[in-house]
Amino acid sequence: MLLKIVQAGDPVLRQVARPLSAKEIGGREIRELIEAMKETMRDAPGLGLAAPQVGHSLQLAVIEDRPEYTKDASADVLAERERKPVPFHVIINPKLTLLNEPSVEFFEGCLSVSGFMAVVPRARRVHVECLDEHGKKKVIEAGGWYARILQHEIDHLNGTLYLDRMHTRTLSTLENYNRYWKDKKTDEIRSLFVR
Ligand code: ZN
Repeated sequence: MLLKIVQAGDPVLRQVARPLSAKEIGGREIRELIEAMKETMRDAPGLGLAAPQVGHSLQLAVIEDRPEYTKDASADVLAERERKPVPFHVIINPKLTLLNEPSVEFFEGCLSVSGFMAVVPRARRVHVECLDEHGKKKVIEAGGWYARILQHEIDHLNGTLYLDRMHTRTLSTLENYNRYWKDKKTDEIRSLFVR
């Protein structure tokens, strides 16, 4: 089942989501929500989807970076972004630790800020402690683009959007992003906001 993705301005995106209990995690409602979020993320398509984006103020997000999403990107672009495929997985009640300053600057977008992109500084490496969909404890050490996805999704669970962290001068429509900025190197992107 495809869920409706709420857009910026919806109060649910600004709430701190509540943690899931052990009992809820195994339950049918959450299993069905996870399945629907997976379908909705793939349909969009997106690299992640947090429960608040589909109207549920819960500490739950799904993540997946499929090889087909980058099949047209050059090796250079993927290497600079440190972007590699990430298999589908679920994070519940995550605790995020940034292992570096947020200084890696690339464009990112959000399914809840439809039609726009902006440059957002993110930490290159992160440490995440969370539960998986079975309630099992999981530790994730991530770098590069995957670390960016985790920071973006966990921000959603705390009521934060990339708009709060972006370099405001870089806000671009999706059309102009594809036209001017899509495959640019960091140096060229920096020319947009460093003056
Ligand atoms: Zn988002």
